[in-house]
Amino acid sequence: MNNEQAFHLLRNPLKNKGSAFSEKERAKNGLEGLLPAAVETLDQRVARAAAQCDACPDDLARYVFLAHIQDVDETLYFALLVSKPDKYMPLVYTPTVGDACLQFDRIFRSTRGLYLPITCKGRLEELIKNWNETDIRFIVVTDGSRILGLGDLGANGMGIPIGKLALYSAAAGVPPQFTLPIMLDVGTDNEEYLKDPFYLGLKQNRPDNDTYYEFVDEFTTAIQKIYPGCCIQFEDFNIHHAEPLLEKYHDEFCMFNDDIQGTAGVATAGLYTACRAKKEKMSDQRILFLGAGSAGCGIGDLISQAMQAEGLDKATAFSQIRMFDIDGLVTKSRIDSLEPFQRPFAADHEPSKDFVAIIKSFKPTAIIGVSTVHGAFNDDVLKAMSEINDRPIIFPYSNPTSHSECTAEEAYAGTNDKVLFASGSPFPPLKVNGKEIEPSQGNNVYIFPAMGLAVYATKAKRVTEKMFLTAAQALAETLTEQELNSGLLYPPRDRIREVSGHVASKVAEAIFDEGHATVDRPSSMPDFIKEHTYIPSYAPHKIS
Ligand code: NAD
Repeated sequence: MNNEQAFHLLRNPLKNKGSAFSEKERAKNGLEGLLPAAVETLDQRVARAAAQCDACPDDLARYVFLAHIQDVDETLYFALLVSKPDKYMPLVYTPTVGDACLQFDRIFRSTRGLYLPITCKGRLEELIKNWNETDIRFIVVTDGSRILGLGDLGANGMGIPIGKLALYSAAAGVPPQFTLPIMLDVGTDNEEYLKDPFYLGLKQNRPDNDTYYEFVDEFTTAIQKIYPGCCIQFEDFNIHHAEPLLEKYHDEFCMFNDDIQGTAGVATAGLYTACRAKKEKMSDQRILFLGAGSAGCGIGDLISQAMQAEGLDKATAFSQIRMFDIDGLVTKSRIDSLEPFQRPFAADHEPSKDFVAIIKSFKPTAIIGVSTVHGAFNDDVLKAMSEINDRPIIFPYSNPTSHSECTAEEAYAGTNDKVLFASGSPFPPLKVNGKEIEPSQGNNVYIFPAMGLAVYATKAKRVTEKMFLTAAQALAETLTEQELNSGLLYPPRDRIREVSGHVASKVAEAIFDEGHATVDRPSSMPDFIKEHTYIPSYAPHKIS
Protein backbone atom coordinates (compact mmCIF):
# COMPACT_ATOMS: atom_id res chain seq x y z
CA MET A 1 0.00 0.00 0.00
CA ASN A 2 1.40 3.39 -0.93
CA ASN A 3 1.06 6.53 1.13
CA GLU A 4 -1.87 7.85 -0.87
CA GLN A 5 -3.95 4.75 -0.07
CA ALA A 6 -3.00 4.93 3.62
CA PHE A 7 -4.05 8.57 3.77
CA HIS A 8 -7.25 7.67 1.93
CA LEU A 9 -8.03 5.07 4.58
CA LEU A 10 -7.62 7.64 7.33
CA ARG A 11 -9.81 10.11 5.41
CA ASN A 12 -12.64 7.67 4.58
CA PRO A 13 -15.28 7.99 7.35
CA LEU A 14 -16.74 4.54 6.58
CA LYS A 15 -13.35 2.81 6.95
CA ASN A 16 -11.39 5.00 9.32
CA LYS A 17 -10.79 3.63 12.83
CA GLY A 18 -8.23 6.25 13.91
CA SER A 19 -6.42 5.18 17.09
CA ALA A 20 -8.35 1.87 17.03
CA PHE A 21 -6.39 0.50 14.06
CA SER A 22 -4.57 -2.56 15.43
CA GLU A 23 -0.79 -2.90 15.11
CA LYS A 24 -1.33 -5.56 12.43
CA GLU A 25 -3.65 -3.26 10.44
CA ARG A 26 -1.18 -0.39 10.77
CA ALA A 27 1.64 -2.52 9.41
CA LYS A 28 -0.46 -3.98 6.59
CA ASN A 29 -1.93 -0.64 5.43
CA GLY A 30 1.14 1.59 5.69
CA LEU A 31 -0.31 3.44 8.66
CA GLU A 32 2.76 3.13 10.92
CA GLY A 33 3.96 6.56 11.92
CA LEU A 34 0.67 8.16 10.84
CA LEU A 35 -1.05 7.53 14.19
CA PRO A 36 -0.07 7.96 17.85
CA ALA A 37 1.24 4.77 19.49
CA ALA A 38 -1.79 3.89 21.64
CA VAL A 39 -4.15 1.28 20.19
CA GLU A 40 -7.58 2.05 21.59
CA THR A 41 -10.98 0.40 21.71
CA LEU A 42 -14.14 1.94 20.29
CA ASP A 43 -15.38 2.52 23.86
CA GLN A 44 -12.25 4.53 24.67
CA ARG A 45 -12.74 6.65 21.57
CA VAL A 46 -16.41 7.17 22.49
CA ALA A 47 -15.43 8.30 26.01
CA ARG A 48 -12.98 10.87 24.60
CA ALA A 49 -15.48 12.17 22.02
CA ALA A 50 -18.17 12.43 24.73
CA ALA A 51 -15.86 14.54 26.91
CA GLN A 52 -14.94 16.75 23.93
CA CYS A 53 -18.61 17.20 23.08
CA ASP A 54 -19.43 18.13 26.69
CA ALA A 55 -16.67 20.72 26.65
CA CYS A 56 -18.20 22.62 23.69
CA PRO A 57 -19.60 26.00 24.75
CA ASP A 58 -23.16 25.51 23.42
CA ASP A 59 -25.40 23.14 21.47
CA LEU A 60 -24.58 24.63 18.06
CA ALA A 61 -20.88 24.09 18.78
CA ARG A 62 -21.75 20.50 19.80
CA TYR A 63 -23.59 20.08 16.49
CA VAL A 64 -20.50 21.27 14.60
CA PHE A 65 -18.28 18.98 16.66
CA LEU A 66 -20.51 15.95 16.02
CA ALA A 67 -20.66 16.75 12.28
CA HIS A 68 -16.86 16.72 12.27
CA ILE A 69 -16.79 13.30 13.96
CA GLN A 70 -19.27 12.05 11.34
CA ASP A 71 -16.97 13.31 8.60
CA VAL A 72 -13.89 11.52 9.93
CA ASP A 73 -15.20 8.32 11.53
CA GLU A 74 -18.84 7.25 11.12
CA THR A 75 -18.46 4.25 13.41
CA LEU A 76 -17.35 6.49 16.26
CA TYR A 77 -20.12 8.99 15.45
CA PHE A 78 -22.87 6.37 15.61
CA ALA A 79 -21.37 4.58 18.62
CA LEU A 80 -21.49 7.92 20.45
CA LEU A 81 -25.10 8.59 19.40
CA VAL A 82 -26.23 5.08 20.34
CA SER A 83 -24.45 5.32 23.72
CA LYS A 84 -26.94 7.98 24.88
CA PRO A 85 -29.67 8.55 22.29
CA ASP A 86 -31.73 10.86 24.52
CA LYS A 87 -28.69 13.11 24.98
CA TYR A 88 -27.35 13.15 21.41
CA MET A 89 -30.50 13.01 19.25
CA PRO A 90 -31.51 16.58 20.19
CA LEU A 91 -27.99 17.70 19.22
CA VAL A 92 -27.94 16.16 15.73
CA TYR A 93 -31.62 16.79 15.01
CA THR A 94 -34.39 18.92 16.56
CA PRO A 95 -34.14 21.31 18.25
CA THR A 96 -30.45 22.05 17.46
CA VAL A 97 -30.74 21.33 13.73
CA GLY A 98 -33.06 24.36 13.40
CA ASP A 99 -30.23 26.68 14.45
CA ALA A 100 -27.78 24.65 12.38
CA CYS A 101 -29.88 25.18 9.23
CA LEU A 102 -30.22 28.91 9.89
CA GLN A 103 -26.43 29.06 10.23
CA PHE A 104 -25.65 26.34 7.65
CA ASP A 105 -23.65 28.60 5.32
CA ARG A 106 -21.74 29.99 8.32
CA ILE A 107 -20.83 26.67 9.98
CA PHE A 108 -20.21 24.83 6.67
CA ARG A 109 -16.85 23.01 6.68
CA SER A 110 -17.04 19.99 4.44
CA THR A 111 -19.63 18.75 2.03
CA ARG A 112 -21.91 15.75 2.63
CA GLY A 113 -24.53 14.24 0.34
CA LEU A 114 -25.66 15.41 -3.10
CA TYR A 115 -26.68 18.91 -4.17
CA LEU A 116 -28.71 18.82 -7.38
CA PRO A 117 -29.17 22.33 -8.81
CA ILE A 118 -32.03 23.11 -11.15
CA THR A 119 -29.49 24.70 -13.48
CA CYS A 120 -28.44 21.09 -14.26
CA LYS A 121 -31.98 20.08 -15.28
CA GLY A 122 -31.62 17.47 -18.02
CA ARG A 123 -28.30 16.18 -16.55
CA LEU A 124 -29.40 14.80 -13.17
CA GLU A 125 -28.54 11.19 -14.01
CA GLU A 126 -24.97 12.26 -14.75
CA LEU A 127 -24.71 14.19 -11.45
CA ILE A 128 -26.19 11.40 -9.33
CA LYS A 129 -23.67 8.97 -10.84
CA ASN A 130 -20.92 11.15 -9.37
CA TRP A 131 -21.84 9.72 -5.96
CA ASN A 132 -19.21 7.16 -5.00
CA GLU A 133 -21.50 4.45 -3.56
CA THR A 134 -23.29 2.08 -5.93
CA ASP A 135 -25.72 0.55 -3.41
CA ILE A 136 -28.04 3.21 -1.97
CA ARG A 137 -31.25 2.01 -0.32
CA PHE A 138 -32.49 5.09 1.48
CA ILE A 139 -32.59 8.74 0.44
CA VAL A 140 -33.92 11.71 2.38
CA VAL A 141 -34.54 14.63 0.04
CA THR A 142 -35.67 18.21 0.60
CA ASP A 143 -36.02 21.30 -1.55
CA GLY A 144 -35.51 23.52 1.51
CA SER A 145 -38.85 25.23 1.02
CA ARG A 146 -40.37 24.65 4.48
CA ILE A 147 -37.64 23.81 6.94
CA LEU A 148 -39.20 22.94 10.34
CA GLY A 149 -41.20 26.02 11.29
CA LEU A 150 -38.52 28.30 9.80
CA GLY A 151 -39.82 28.70 6.25
CA ASP A 152 -37.81 28.82 3.01
CA LEU A 153 -34.14 28.24 3.86
CA GLY A 154 -33.09 27.13 0.37
CA ALA A 155 -29.87 25.10 0.31
CA ASN A 156 -29.33 25.80 4.02
CA GLY A 157 -32.05 23.18 4.55
CA MET A 158 -29.50 20.43 3.77
CA GLY A 159 -29.02 20.06 7.54
CA ILE A 160 -32.41 18.31 7.61
CA PRO A 161 -31.73 15.30 5.31
CA ILE A 162 -28.31 14.88 6.95
CA GLY A 163 -29.77 14.96 10.47
CA LYS A 164 -32.76 12.82 9.64
CA LEU A 165 -30.59 10.09 8.12
CA ALA A 166 -28.37 10.15 11.20
CA LEU A 167 -31.49 9.26 13.21
CA TYR A 168 -32.36 6.41 10.83
CA SER A 169 -29.04 4.81 11.73
CA ALA A 170 -28.82 5.87 15.38
CA ALA A 171 -32.41 5.33 16.50
CA ALA A 172 -33.25 2.18 14.52
CA GLY A 173 -30.07 0.85 12.92
CA VAL A 174 -30.43 1.45 9.17
CA PRO A 175 -26.81 0.91 8.01
CA PRO A 176 -25.41 4.37 7.19
CA GLN A 177 -23.46 3.23 4.12
CA PHE A 178 -26.78 2.71 2.27
CA THR A 179 -28.13 6.19 2.98
CA LEU A 180 -27.83 9.40 0.99
CA PRO A 181 -28.99 12.94 1.84
CA ILE A 182 -30.04 15.04 -1.15
CA MET A 183 -30.79 18.74 -1.64
CA LEU A 184 -32.86 19.64 -4.69
CA ASP A 185 -31.56 23.18 -5.10
CA VAL A 186 -34.33 24.90 -7.02
CA GLY A 187 -33.33 28.35 -5.72
CA THR A 188 -34.94 30.26 -2.87
CA ASP A 189 -37.42 33.06 -2.37
CA ASN A 190 -35.64 34.05 0.84
CA GLU A 191 -34.53 37.61 0.00
CA GLU A 192 -32.00 37.68 2.84
CA TYR A 193 -30.18 34.63 1.46
CA LEU A 194 -30.28 35.92 -2.11
CA LYS A 195 -28.25 38.92 -0.92
CA ASP A 196 -25.98 37.02 1.49
CA PRO A 197 -22.38 36.60 0.21
CA PHE A 198 -22.01 33.41 2.30
CA TYR A 199 -25.16 31.71 1.00
CA LEU A 200 -24.15 28.43 -0.65
CA GLY A 201 -27.16 27.66 -2.84
CA LEU A 202 -28.31 28.92 -6.23
CA LYS A 203 -28.93 32.64 -6.08
CA GLN A 204 -32.17 32.66 -8.01
CA ASN A 205 -35.88 32.53 -7.21
CA ARG A 206 -37.84 29.31 -7.10
CA PRO A 207 -39.23 28.20 -10.49
CA ASP A 208 -42.83 28.04 -11.75
CA ASN A 209 -44.79 24.88 -10.97
CA ASP A 210 -44.36 23.24 -14.39
CA THR A 211 -40.57 23.58 -14.32
CA TYR A 212 -40.50 22.47 -10.67
CA TYR A 213 -42.54 19.29 -11.20
CA GLU A 214 -40.52 18.39 -14.34
CA PHE A 215 -37.33 18.70 -12.30
CA VAL A 216 -38.64 16.53 -9.43
CA ASP A 217 -39.86 13.96 -11.98
CA GLU A 218 -36.43 13.87 -13.59
CA PHE A 219 -34.90 13.32 -10.14
CA THR A 220 -37.19 10.46 -9.09
CA THR A 221 -36.82 8.75 -12.48
CA ALA A 222 -33.02 8.99 -12.34
CA ILE A 223 -32.91 7.61 -8.79
CA GLN A 224 -35.02 4.61 -9.72
CA LYS A 225 -32.77 3.94 -12.69
CA ILE A 226 -29.49 4.26 -10.81
CA TYR A 227 -30.62 2.81 -7.46
CA PRO A 228 -33.58 0.53 -8.29
CA GLY A 229 -35.79 -0.14 -5.27
CA CYS A 230 -34.31 2.75 -3.28
CA CYS A 231 -36.81 4.37 -0.87
CA ILE A 232 -37.12 8.16 -1.12
CA GLN A 233 -38.31 10.03 1.94
CA PHE A 234 -39.57 13.53 1.09
CA GLU A 235 -38.88 15.98 3.90
CA ASP A 236 -39.84 19.58 4.64
CA PHE A 237 -41.38 20.40 1.27
CA ASN A 238 -43.85 23.25 1.18
CA ILE A 239 -47.36 21.80 1.66
CA HIS A 240 -48.46 23.03 -1.80
CA HIS A 241 -45.91 20.65 -3.31
CA ALA A 242 -45.73 17.99 -0.56
CA GLU A 243 -49.34 16.78 -0.88
CA PRO A 244 -49.41 16.57 -4.72
CA LEU A 245 -46.01 14.82 -4.79
CA LEU A 246 -47.17 12.24 -2.24
CA GLU A 247 -50.43 11.74 -4.11
CA LYS A 248 -48.57 11.34 -7.41
CA TYR A 249 -45.72 9.06 -6.34
CA HIS A 250 -46.96 6.88 -3.46
CA ASP A 251 -48.33 4.25 -5.85
CA GLU A 252 -45.47 4.56 -8.36
CA PHE A 253 -42.41 3.72 -6.26
CA CYS A 254 -41.15 3.28 -2.69
CA MET A 255 -41.51 6.68 -1.01
CA PHE A 256 -43.19 8.52 1.85
CA ASN A 257 -43.50 11.95 3.41
CA ASP A 258 -42.61 12.02 7.09
CA ASP A 259 -44.17 15.44 7.77
CA ILE A 260 -47.53 14.06 6.72
CA GLN A 261 -47.39 10.30 7.29
CA GLY A 262 -44.82 10.04 10.11
CA THR A 263 -46.61 12.75 12.11
CA ALA A 264 -49.88 10.90 11.59
CA GLY A 265 -48.27 7.68 12.79
CA VAL A 266 -46.84 9.14 15.97
CA ALA A 267 -50.01 11.06 16.92
CA THR A 268 -52.19 8.01 16.26
CA ALA A 269 -49.82 5.97 18.44
CA GLY A 270 -50.35 8.48 21.27
CA LEU A 271 -54.12 8.04 20.89
CA TYR A 272 -53.79 4.24 20.92
CA THR A 273 -51.78 4.50 24.15
CA ALA A 274 -54.37 6.86 25.65
CA CYS A 275 -57.03 4.28 24.70
CA ARG A 276 -54.95 1.64 26.49
CA ALA A 277 -54.84 3.85 29.58
CA LYS A 278 -58.63 4.41 29.42
CA LYS A 279 -59.34 0.76 28.48
CA GLU A 280 -61.30 1.96 25.45
CA LYS A 281 -61.12 1.45 21.70
CA MET A 282 -60.07 3.95 19.04
CA SER A 283 -63.55 3.64 17.52
CA ASP A 284 -65.00 4.95 20.83
CA GLN A 285 -63.13 8.25 20.43
CA ARG A 286 -64.37 11.57 19.08
CA ILE A 287 -61.51 13.81 17.95
CA LEU A 288 -61.55 17.57 17.50
CA PHE A 289 -58.59 19.22 15.75
CA LEU A 290 -57.54 22.82 16.15
CA GLY A 291 -55.74 23.36 12.82
CA ALA A 292 -56.68 21.67 9.55
CA GLY A 293 -53.37 21.88 7.70
CA SER A 294 -51.07 19.11 6.51
CA ALA A 295 -50.38 17.76 10.01
CA GLY A 296 -54.04 17.86 11.13
CA CYS A 297 -55.48 16.28 7.99
CA GLY A 298 -52.70 13.65 7.82
CA ILE A 299 -53.39 12.64 11.44
CA GLY A 300 -57.15 12.76 10.86
CA ASP A 301 -56.85 10.42 7.86
CA LEU A 302 -54.87 7.83 9.77
CA ILE A 303 -57.22 7.99 12.78
CA SER A 304 -60.16 7.39 10.45
CA GLN A 305 -58.36 4.30 9.15
CA ALA A 306 -57.67 3.14 12.70
CA MET A 307 -61.40 3.44 13.43
CA GLN A 308 -62.30 1.62 10.22
CA ALA A 309 -59.85 -1.15 11.14
CA GLU A 310 -61.99 -1.65 14.27
CA GLY A 311 -65.14 -2.05 12.18
CA LEU A 312 -66.57 1.46 11.68
CA ASP A 313 -67.67 2.34 8.17
CA LYS A 314 -65.89 5.25 6.49
CA ALA A 315 -68.71 7.78 6.92
CA THR A 316 -69.10 7.01 10.64
CA ALA A 317 -65.34 7.20 11.18
CA PHE A 318 -65.16 10.65 9.54
CA SER A 319 -68.23 11.79 11.48
CA GLN A 320 -66.26 11.20 14.71
CA ILE A 321 -63.53 13.63 13.58
CA ARG A 322 -63.98 17.39 13.35
CA MET A 323 -61.58 20.09 12.16
CA PHE A 324 -61.53 23.70 13.28
CA ASP A 325 -59.17 26.15 11.56
CA ILE A 326 -58.51 29.87 11.27
CA ASP A 327 -61.93 30.33 9.63
CA GLY A 328 -63.78 28.26 12.24
CA LEU A 329 -65.35 24.82 12.01
CA VAL A 330 -64.58 23.06 8.74
CA THR A 331 -68.08 22.64 7.32
CA LYS A 332 -69.72 21.62 4.06
CA SER A 333 -70.71 25.26 3.48
CA ARG A 334 -66.98 26.02 3.01
CA ILE A 335 -66.34 23.13 0.61
CA ASP A 336 -65.35 25.25 -2.41
CA SER A 337 -62.59 27.03 -0.52
CA LEU A 338 -61.18 23.86 1.08
CA GLU A 339 -58.07 22.04 -0.17
CA PRO A 340 -58.83 18.55 -1.58
CA PHE A 341 -57.20 16.90 1.48
CA GLN A 342 -59.47 18.88 3.85
CA ARG A 343 -62.77 18.07 2.12
CA PRO A 344 -63.42 14.62 3.67
CA PHE A 345 -63.53 16.34 7.08
CA ALA A 346 -66.18 18.92 6.13
CA ALA A 347 -69.01 18.57 8.66
CA ASP A 348 -72.70 18.85 7.98
CA HIS A 349 -72.96 21.59 10.56
CA GLU A 350 -73.75 25.26 10.66
CA PRO A 351 -70.69 27.52 10.58
CA SER A 352 -69.11 28.33 13.97
CA LYS A 353 -66.11 30.31 15.12
CA ASP A 354 -66.53 29.30 18.78
CA PHE A 355 -64.16 26.43 19.65
CA VAL A 356 -65.53 25.98 23.18
CA ALA A 357 -69.09 25.81 21.86
CA ILE A 358 -67.99 23.07 19.43
CA ILE A 359 -66.41 21.16 22.33
CA LYS A 360 -69.72 21.37 24.21
CA SER A 361 -71.83 20.23 21.26
CA PHE A 362 -69.48 17.68 19.58
CA LYS A 363 -68.26 16.27 22.94
CA PRO A 364 -64.77 15.19 21.86
CA THR A 365 -62.79 12.70 23.93
CA ALA A 366 -59.61 14.22 22.48
CA ILE A 367 -58.46 17.60 21.19
CA ILE A 368 -55.34 17.85 19.01
CA GLY A 369 -53.67 21.22 18.48
CA VAL A 370 -51.87 21.67 15.15
CA SER A 371 -52.70 25.36 14.69
CA THR A 372 -49.41 27.00 15.81
CA VAL A 373 -51.56 29.24 18.08
CA HIS A 374 -49.92 29.58 21.47
CA GLY A 375 -52.41 29.52 24.34
CA ALA A 376 -55.37 28.35 22.22
CA PHE A 377 -56.08 25.55 24.73
CA ASN A 378 -56.94 28.06 27.46
CA ASP A 379 -58.75 27.56 30.78
CA ASP A 380 -62.18 27.54 29.13
CA VAL A 381 -61.11 24.84 26.67
CA LEU A 382 -59.51 22.68 29.37
CA LYS A 383 -62.54 23.13 31.66
CA ALA A 384 -64.96 22.19 28.89
CA MET A 385 -62.92 19.04 28.13
CA SER A 386 -62.84 18.08 31.85
CA GLU A 387 -66.57 18.48 32.24
CA ILE A 388 -67.24 15.99 29.45
CA ASN A 389 -64.45 13.47 30.09
CA ASP A 390 -63.08 11.58 33.10
CA ARG A 391 -59.71 11.50 31.34
CA PRO A 392 -59.57 14.15 28.59
CA ILE A 393 -56.95 13.53 25.89
CA ILE A 394 -55.15 16.79 25.15
CA PHE A 395 -52.38 16.94 22.55
CA PRO A 396 -50.95 20.43 21.91
CA TYR A 397 -48.80 19.33 18.96
CA SER A 398 -47.68 22.66 17.53
CA ASN A 399 -43.93 23.36 17.43
CA PRO A 400 -41.81 25.00 18.65
CA THR A 401 -42.67 25.35 22.35
CA SER A 402 -43.57 29.01 21.88
CA HIS A 403 -46.39 27.92 19.51
CA SER A 404 -47.75 25.14 21.71
CA GLU A 405 -51.52 25.43 22.30
CA CYS A 406 -50.87 24.94 26.05
CA THR A 407 -48.04 23.87 28.31
CA ALA A 408 -47.94 20.55 30.14
CA GLU A 409 -48.34 22.39 33.43
CA GLU A 410 -51.46 24.22 32.17
CA ALA A 411 -52.99 20.99 30.85
CA TYR A 412 -52.52 19.15 34.16
CA ALA A 413 -53.63 22.11 36.28
CA GLY A 414 -56.64 22.86 34.05
CA THR A 415 -57.94 19.27 34.26
CA ASN A 416 -57.20 18.50 37.94
CA ASP A 417 -54.38 16.21 36.79
CA LYS A 418 -56.83 13.98 34.89
CA VAL A 419 -55.38 14.75 31.46
CA LEU A 420 -53.80 12.21 29.12
CA PHE A 421 -51.20 14.57 27.70
CA ALA A 422 -48.70 14.59 24.84
CA SER A 423 -47.14 17.55 23.08
CA GLY A 424 -45.16 18.23 19.92
CA SER A 425 -42.41 20.12 21.76
CA PRO A 426 -40.72 18.95 24.95
CA PHE A 427 -41.78 20.29 28.36
CA PRO A 428 -39.77 20.04 31.59
CA PRO A 429 -40.70 17.42 34.23
CA LEU A 430 -43.48 18.36 36.65
CA LYS A 431 -45.07 17.01 39.82
CA VAL A 432 -48.43 15.26 39.41
CA ASN A 433 -50.15 13.76 42.47
CA GLY A 434 -46.88 14.10 44.37
CA LYS A 435 -44.86 12.21 41.74
CA GLU A 436 -42.45 13.72 39.25
CA ILE A 437 -43.38 12.90 35.64
CA GLU A 438 -41.76 13.64 32.30
CA PRO A 439 -44.52 14.98 29.99
CA SER A 440 -44.84 12.83 26.86
CA GLN A 441 -43.53 14.21 23.58
CA GLY A 442 -44.91 12.82 20.31
CA ASN A 443 -41.67 12.91 18.39
CA ASN A 444 -41.66 11.48 14.84
CA VAL A 445 -38.40 9.70 15.74
CA TYR A 446 -40.55 6.92 17.27
CA ILE A 447 -41.85 6.03 13.81
CA PHE A 448 -39.71 6.98 10.77
CA PRO A 449 -36.41 5.24 11.65
CA ALA A 450 -38.29 2.00 12.38
CA MET A 451 -40.21 2.40 9.11
CA GLY A 452 -36.85 2.80 7.35
CA LEU A 453 -35.40 -0.30 8.98
CA ALA A 454 -38.42 -2.41 8.00
CA VAL A 455 -38.31 -1.11 4.40
CA TYR A 456 -34.55 -1.74 4.21
CA ALA A 457 -34.74 -5.27 5.65
CA THR A 458 -37.66 -6.40 3.48
CA LYS A 459 -36.53 -4.46 0.38
CA ALA A 460 -40.11 -3.21 0.23
CA LYS A 461 -41.59 -1.99 -3.05
CA ARG A 462 -43.99 0.50 -1.46
CA VAL A 463 -44.70 2.39 1.76
CA THR A 464 -48.42 2.30 2.55
CA GLU A 465 -50.89 3.82 5.03
CA LYS A 466 -51.38 0.33 6.48
CA MET A 467 -47.68 0.29 7.38
CA PHE A 468 -48.04 3.58 9.30
CA LEU A 469 -51.14 2.28 11.08
CA THR A 470 -49.24 -0.86 12.04
CA ALA A 471 -46.32 1.27 13.25
CA ALA A 472 -48.70 3.33 15.42
CA GLN A 473 -50.23 0.22 16.98
CA ALA A 474 -46.81 -1.34 17.54
CA LEU A 475 -45.45 1.82 19.17
CA ALA A 476 -48.39 1.92 21.58
CA GLU A 477 -47.63 -1.69 22.56
CA THR A 478 -44.11 -0.82 23.68
CA LEU A 479 -45.13 1.03 26.84
CA THR A 480 -44.83 -1.07 29.96
CA GLU A 481 -47.78 -1.06 32.42
CA GLN A 482 -45.56 0.89 34.80
CA GLU A 483 -44.83 3.56 32.18
CA LEU A 484 -48.53 3.73 31.32
CA ASN A 485 -49.53 4.10 34.97
CA SER A 486 -47.00 6.90 35.41
CA GLY A 487 -48.90 8.90 32.77
CA LEU A 488 -46.53 8.36 29.84
CA LEU A 489 -48.02 8.02 26.35
CA TYR A 490 -44.70 7.39 24.57
CA PRO A 491 -41.80 5.26 25.81
CA PRO A 492 -38.70 6.97 27.25
CA ARG A 493 -36.27 7.86 24.47
CA ASP A 494 -33.36 5.98 26.03
CA ARG A 495 -35.24 2.82 24.94
CA ILE A 496 -35.46 4.02 21.33
CA ARG A 497 -33.44 1.19 19.72
CA GLU A 498 -35.44 -1.55 21.44
CA VAL A 499 -38.70 0.27 20.63
CA SER A 500 -37.67 0.77 16.98
CA GLY A 501 -36.82 -2.95 16.73
CA HIS A 502 -40.34 -3.89 17.84
CA VAL A 503 -42.01 -1.34 15.55
CA ALA A 504 -39.83 -2.40 12.57
CA SER A 505 -40.63 -6.04 13.19
CA LYS A 506 -44.41 -5.41 13.14
CA VAL A 507 -44.15 -3.14 10.09
CA ALA A 508 -42.10 -5.83 8.30
CA GLU A 509 -44.93 -8.32 8.99
CA ALA A 510 -47.34 -5.84 7.39
CA ILE A 511 -45.02 -5.44 4.37
CA PHE A 512 -45.06 -9.22 3.82
CA ASP A 513 -48.83 -9.41 4.42
CA GLU A 514 -49.44 -6.69 1.83
CA GLY A 515 -47.17 -8.44 -0.68
CA HIS A 516 -44.67 -5.58 -0.90
CA ALA A 517 -41.58 -7.47 0.29
CA THR A 518 -39.05 -8.60 -2.32
CA VAL A 519 -37.16 -11.05 -0.08
CA ASP A 520 -38.31 -14.40 1.39
CA ARG A 521 -40.45 -14.25 4.51
CA PRO A 522 -38.29 -15.25 7.50
CA SER A 523 -39.47 -17.65 10.19
CA SER A 524 -38.80 -15.14 12.99
CA MET A 525 -39.39 -11.49 12.16
CA PRO A 526 -37.72 -10.07 15.32
CA ASP A 527 -34.57 -12.12 14.54
CA PHE A 528 -34.69 -11.04 10.90
CA ILE A 529 -34.91 -7.36 11.94
CA LYS A 530 -32.08 -7.86 14.43
CA GLU A 531 -29.86 -9.35 11.71
CA HIS A 532 -30.39 -6.22 9.60
CA THR A 533 -29.79 -3.77 12.43
CA TYR A 534 -26.60 -1.75 12.22
CA ILE A 535 -24.55 -1.88 15.40
CA PRO A 536 -21.59 0.51 15.32
CA SER A 537 -18.43 -1.59 15.43
CA TYR A 538 -14.97 -1.56 13.90
CA ALA A 539 -15.47 -5.18 12.78
CA PRO A 540 -16.48 -5.51 9.10
CA HIS A 541 -20.28 -5.34 8.60
CA LYS A 542 -22.35 -8.08 7.05
CA ILE A 543 -24.29 -6.72 4.06
CA SER A 544 -27.56 -8.21 2.82
P1 NAD B 1 -50.21 24.27 8.33
O1 NAD B 1 -49.79 25.67 8.12
O2 NAD B 1 -50.40 23.36 7.16
O3 NAD B 1 -51.63 24.30 9.14
C1 NAD B 1 -51.93 25.17 10.20
C2 NAD B 1 -53.43 25.13 10.46
O4 NAD B 1 -53.72 25.92 11.62
C3 NAD B 1 -54.26 25.71 9.31
O5 NAD B 1 -55.37 24.87 9.07
C4 NAD B 1 -54.73 27.05 9.86
O6 NAD B 1 -55.98 27.47 9.33
C5 NAD B 1 -54.85 26.72 11.34
N1 NAD B 1 -54.83 27.92 12.17
C6 NAD B 1 -54.00 28.99 12.11
N2 NAD B 1 -54.38 29.92 13.00
C7 NAD B 1 -55.47 29.45 13.63
C8 NAD B 1 -56.32 29.98 14.64
N3 NAD B 1 -56.10 31.17 15.16
N4 NAD B 1 -57.33 29.19 15.06
C9 NAD B 1 -57.56 27.98 14.52
N5 NAD B 1 -56.79 27.43 13.57
C10 NAD B 1 -55.76 28.17 13.12
O7 NAD B 1 -49.20 23.65 9.36
P2 NAD B 1 -48.91 22.10 9.66
O8 NAD B 1 -47.82 21.60 8.79
O9 NAD B 1 -50.21 21.37 9.65
O10 NAD B 1 -48.32 22.18 11.13
C11 NAD B 1 -49.09 22.68 12.21
C12 NAD B 1 -48.30 22.56 13.49
O11 NAD B 1 -48.12 21.19 13.80
C13 NAD B 1 -46.90 23.18 13.43
O12 NAD B 1 -46.66 23.92 14.60
C14 NAD B 1 -46.00 22.01 13.38
O13 NAD B 1 -44.76 22.27 13.99
C15 NAD B 1 -46.78 20.99 14.16
N6 NAD B 1 -46.34 19.63 13.84
C16 NAD B 1 -45.88 18.85 14.86
C17 NAD B 1 -45.38 17.58 14.60
C18 NAD B 1 -44.86 16.74 15.75
O14 NAD B 1 -44.64 17.26 16.79
N7 NAD B 1 -44.64 15.45 15.58
C19 NAD B 1 -45.34 17.11 13.30
C20 NAD B 1 -45.84 17.93 12.25
C21 NAD B 1 -46.34 19.18 12.55
